[in-house]
Amino acid sequence: MLLLARYVLPVSSAHIEDGGVLVRDGAIVRVGSRSDLLADYPDDEVHDYGLAALMPGFIDLHTHFEYSGFRGVVDDLPYTQWKLQVLAKEALLDEQDWRDSSVLGAVETIRSGITTFADISDSGASIDAAARSGLRGVLYREVSTMDKHRVDAEMAHAVEDIASWRTRVDESLITIGIAPHSPYSCHPTLFKVVSEHVGGTDMPVAIHLAGSKDEYDFVKYGSSMLGQEFRDQAGWGDMLWMPTGVSPVQYVYQWGLLEVPNVLAVHCVHVDEADIEVLTRNDVSIAHCPRCNLKLGMGIAPLHSFVVKGLRVGIGTDSPASNSTIDFFDEMRVGLLTQRGIGGETAYYTGQRFVRMATLGGAQALKLDHLVGTLEVGKRADIIAVDLSQNHQVPTQDPYGALVHTANQEDVLMTMVDGKILFEDGRFLTMDADEMADALERVRVKLRD
Ligand SMILES: [Zn+2]
Repeated sequence: MLLLARYVLPVSSAHIEDGGVLVRDGAIVRVGSRSDLLADYPDDEVHDYGLAALMPGFIDLHTHFEYSGFRGVVDDLPYTQWKLQVLAKEALLDEQDWRDSSVLGAVETIRSGITTFADISDSGASIDAAARSGLRGVLYREVSTMDKHRVDAEMAHAVEDIASWRTRVDESLITIGIAPHSPYSCHPTLFKVVSEHVGGTDMPVAIHLAGSKDEYDFVKYGSSMLGQEFRDQAGWGDMLWMPTGVSPVQYVYQWGLLEVPNVLAVHCVHVDEADIEVLTRNDVSIAHCPRCNLKLGMGIAPLHSFVVKGLRVGIGTDSPASNSTIDFFDEMRVGLLTQRGIGGETAYYTGQRFVRMATLGGAQALKLDHLVGTLEVGKRADIIAVDLSQNHQVPTQDPYGALVHTANQEDVLMTMVDGKILFEDGRFLTMDADEMADALERVRVKLRD
């Protein structure tokens, strides 16, 4: 199959005008000029996207598919209060609701041109939607408990689930990992047990880390609403919690979690130079979630410090429960503008840099850059086409600028994973979007009550 467009952005090299990509057996076989490809491969099926950009699909480093139905439930509260409200609403949903909500997450992910996801699932409802979607990704089985006596049982349950989840996905596309939820919802011995379980293997581990100021205050001083109201609501109110005197990053490091080889730390807003040093030394990768961090009043992560230190950084959307949409263009745009606002002229980021972070950066963060993240011969064909022909976009001189400053998820023309088209001409080829819409209305009625 021959994909053609006005712009081809390999990301690993300069963009090509009037270019194309040849895809065979799920892999990228050639990247070059339109005329050369048409001359050399006259018999291949052609998909010509016109004034558009062909580029590697986005890599979303942080999602919770199962929370997609929560969009709009809590829009105007800071982190901890938002968390308490979401927690209270969770009880209203049954298993089918969580599954329907997950389907919405997978559909919107495809629609946004994301080809690889990193999803943390508590209920396990994401598995089937993720498997059916045809997307590539990492699914982390969430674990959490503040009850020391429950740690071994929780871990045993997780290990069982992980074995079963592996049988339900295509392991050439989806890897199963584990995610101790956060420093405020896990007893420290849980970090130790997870670390021992993973050992020196490449099993992916993710954690929400140093997100809110409340989390920081809870870990270091034992204070904030996370130390009181949240623990009461979660049923952990009677359990002793001693202030640790250290930051969230130092705390999980002391309990061994960062020693395993493949850790993804999500948010990392409240980190200082010493924390960044620990993250660097342990080769932890970062899921930068600019919109979620802003919307919940968590703050602004020190992206430039991560980059200067050479940390592997990509971008995450988080779920519509917090961030409202899974629009990766919005994520790049808000991330870029925020960085320019705080970085000024000395740490001024270009559109190209953010496109790179959204693709190759994410692949490196998940240690999948040998497979995806760029359009290079030999890599898997995870490719998207983004329309740049609309009035608010043309004349287009710099395709990177147009992508970051003018595009949105509605401009995605085609999403392909492993050489298979998942979305094109407004149609989803692996998911039933109409059926999903009806199911979601039922979920929303429950959440509105
Ligand atoms: Zn999250």
